[in-house]
Amino acid sequence: MIESLFEWLLDPAKRTHYGYWISSFLVALTWAGWSWNKRKGYLQSLLSTNYWCNKSTWQDLVLALGNRGLFILLGIPWLLLTLDIALSTLDGWRLTGSVQEVLITGPWVVACYTLVVFLLDDVSRYGLHRVMHKFDFLWRIHQLHHSASTLTPITTLRLHPLESVLYQIRGSLVHGFCAGSSFFFLGFQAHSWEVWGASAWVIAFNILGANLRHSHIPFSYGRLEALLISPAQHQAHHGVRTMKHNYGSVLAIWDRLCNSWRSGKLDYQLPKQAQPLVKQLLLQTIPFK
Ligand SMILES: [Zn+2]
Ligand SMILES: [Zn+2]
Repeated sequence: MIESLFEWLLDPAKRTHYGYWISSFLVALTWAGWSWNKRKGYLQSLLSTNYWCNKSTWQDLVLALGNRGLFILLGIPWLLLTLDIALSTLDGWRLTGSVQEVLITGPWVVACYTLVVFLLDDVSRYGLHRVMHKFDFLWRIHQLHHSASTLTPITTLRLHPLESVLYQIRGSLVHGFCAGSSFFFLGFQAHSWEVWGASAWVIAFNILGANLRHSHIPFSYGRLEALLISPAQHQAHHGVRTMKHNYGSVLAIWDRLCNSWRSGKLDYQLPKQAQPLVKQLLLQTIPFK
């Protein structure tokens, strides 16, 4: 049970796996070393007690454990839901006619499947994140994530339980749809390219410092930000006045296509202090949007 509660620290498919904490710290160290005199202060505050022991970070931890505990207790059969969506997708494709013959085999199947899953996963994350800001009820749920007054890697799990459920349903829809389509077009269940038990792109994204998105290290990708959302861009999304930008997870193209992309030096301001957690869980509005 205890191990299950801390699964987010032990599962390589999750950004919060302890290995990615270490790799993100190494990225931060390299970033600071590049211009040590100017940047060493960022690294020192990363190691300070105040950064880790404050109301906002404790709330992150309570939510991470609380959401995980709730999911274990409810025992929601996510795998069955994904399977059900896969079968419904297969039935849906069958209504369109006979099985299409796709002339790709071997490694190309894996490469194409990995790419399609990655694109659908990323665009669906963008879409869900964007609607969470757009509609009042969804915003009341999502604002809990934005109410962090300190960003640490655990802030990625600072989610209202209802938001966790919505993201799980989104994941089941994407993976179920891809599995059902694979059965229809290929005649078998294709798999993404996996390393260490997780999709290769998830591993690459996480190793390259994904945890710095929820930190105060303004790590920018420079010109590459036109393609990939950097930690600095996501930090700006947490800003009280800059949160209408950079909704993306990995790719920046969705933000660019939908006019929500911002790059360059972004000054942002986090909420001054975290509101009481119970109030936020009860979907009370807090005075910023
Ligand atoms: Zn947001
Ligand atoms: Zn965030």
